[in-house]
Amino acid sequence: MVRAVVGCNWGDEGKGKITDMLAQEADIVIRFQGGSNAGHTIINDYGKFALHLLPSGSFNQNTTNIIGNGVALNIPKLFEEIEEIKKRGVPEPKILVSDRAQVLMPYHVLFDSYEEERLAGKSFGSTKSGIAPFYSDKFAKIGIQVNELFDEAILEDRVEKSLPLKNVMLEHLYHKPLLEKEDVLKTLHEYRDMVAPYVCDTGLYLHNAIKEGKSILLEGQLGSLKDPDFGIYPMVTSSSTIAAYGAIGAGIPPYEIKNITTVVKAYSSAVGGGAFVSEIFGEEADELRKRGGDAGEFGATTGRPRRMGWFDCVASRYGCRVQGATEVVLTVLDVLGYLKEIPVCVGYEIDGKVTKDFPATSLLEKAKPVIKVLPGWNCDIRGIKNYEELPKECRDYIEFIEKELEVPIKMVSNGPKRDEIIFRK
Ligand code: GDP
Repeated sequence: MVRAVVGCNWGDEGKGKITDMLAQEADIVIRFQGGSNAGHTIINDYGKFALHLLPSGSFNQNTTNIIGNGVALNIPKLFEEIEEIKKRGVPEPKILVSDRAQVLMPYHVLFDSYEEERLAGKSFGSTKSGIAPFYSDKFAKIGIQVNELFDEAILEDRVEKSLPLKNVMLEHLYHKPLLEKEDVLKTLHEYRDMVAPYVCDTGLYLHNAIKEGKSILLEGQLGSLKDPDFGIYPMVTSSSTIAAYGAIGAGIPPYEIKNITTVVKAYSSAVGGGAFVSEIFGEEADELRKRGGDAGEFGATTGRPRRMGWFDCVASRYGCRVQGATEVVLTVLDVLGYLKEIPVCVGYEIDGKVTKDFPATSLLEKAKPVIKVLPGWNCDIRGIKNYEELPKECRDYIEFIEKELEVPIKMVSNGPKRDEIIFRK
């Protein structure tokens, strides 16, 4: 059975915790898109970890963790993360890297920074991890696939094809030092030696695993609203964050993805620029950010303070729809326990008209939130294990959101730890 765990919102919904929890039962966990540009925070028996590229099944000895072909493979970062978790007592994780994944190069990181510098105040707020230049190269067919690292003639040819393009930009647009073929090849040789023990045809591996009835998890990064097609373009990421892309980025048939577990945060937060209709500011935002602690304060990769907002029914229903959510996990509900009343955004007013349907970005910029205020439960709900034991106002809040999402909320997360989860029947 293949299950995807994906984000409904702008990322940071708590997918890492949910994947780590579900991974205990999984034979295989796969990263299928993105790179080291966002983080998953995981708290388990080994401690607290911020993983960026390693799949969240890396703490389980029985789980095989796959870096799928859709990932931006930053080889040194992958190894840093493996070393870091081993240093902290986690046994060597089982890792496989797709021979069709492409290699994120140091020059991708440089181009990312140079472009942000060039755009100055009008930048995209990139994490400068090289993700946009990496995916641009992939689709311009000047990227380098992992399998090509093992054939010197092909590798040289690939480098010779891409360098003139890079150097024109470096010389005439960015006015920066040029790239030398020998240096680039040297880096690629180092990467080849590092990654060699892990490389395999992961598509074939998964084909066999599916035949054997293995339990497989696709681990998404970021969320629906950061998807290049369905998100708030251009303030999006450069690879698809949608469960459907799991089939491509892992290399499995689309009809095998039976379960799309969509992680929805009980309030809104976002890192980086772009329209954010239910955003709040000032003291109200500071308070929510502070209460959110790790869940609210800073992005796991960027360290940037998150923008805060109330729960947005319009964006979240859309986020679930584009994921094709079959079930929802509602996370960080405990954080709202300090509020006597909880505002939620139930509609967008655009040019004097109220809509409940999430619009394309040019209209989104004009949207003003229509707010409904729900009663808060005003107490701490951490430690509660049974749904019926949650305060009535809290259950009402969950059930209100469930109705708005039009997808069953099957799990409620009431704390950052693995076992702080309430299953609903
Ligand atoms: P991800 O990329 O979706 O995994 O999200 P992040 O890891 O960047 O951010 C989620 C943050 O929320 C992390 O610090 C988690 O430890 C924390 N978290 C996850 N679920 C809960 C929850 O139910 N309650 C609280 N208080 N924190 C949570």
